[in-house]
Amino acid sequence: MTLSETILIAEPAFDFAILGEGEYACLELLVELEKTARDFSTIKGLVWKRGNHIVHNEIREPVPDLDTLPFPARDFLDTAQRDPVDGNIVESIRVVTSRGCIGTCTFCCVNLHNKTLKGKRWRGRSPMHVVDELEMLVREYGVRVFNFADSSFEDPGRRGKQRAREICEEIIRRGLPLSPRSTCAAKR
Ligand code: SF4
Repeated sequence: MTLSETILIAEPAFDFAILGEGEYACLELLVELEKTARDFSTIKGLVWKRGNHIVHNEIREPVPDLDTLPFPARDFLDTAQRDPVDGNIVESIRVVTSRGCIGTCTFCCVNLHNKTLKGKRWRGRSPMHVVDELEMLVREYGVRVFNFADSSFEDPGRRGKQRAREICEEIIRRGLPLSPRSTCAAKR
């Protein structure tokens, strides 16, 4: 995160960097770029060039409720390489169900991120919201294998384990046909 200034100085192709969670900062930046009289100083999380100076705006607070964010755009899956062996499924789609971690490992960028943003260390999407996204990917794109790309899927403590259980139970309740590799293995 602290490399933003170095990158902006060293690389003239970059005019902006966003520290922390970028969804709303990026949106506000695009709105500002559309204007003729631009003021980047109020966009929290933005690092930008003003003449020969690098300006660090105020840090942006993390999104408190991840369920309020839309699902990531998955348009690229229409043309993604599919595996003919498993019925043309899209392999190993990444889904993020939480952000942050309650660990304090000194070598880890997630821990540094937690300290810098000074927000809640871990936030998780609700089980319903997660499984809604999985179901959309199953029904619209034929995805069968998911890779939960969270920093710490099972946080925090007992509450996190309960959330993981509720995600699993909701997948079963909806009858989502996941993990066809194990299904194929069972058929053989
Ligand atoms: S994400 Fe892993 S390595 Fe990083 S602070 Fe959490 S437990 Fe430690």
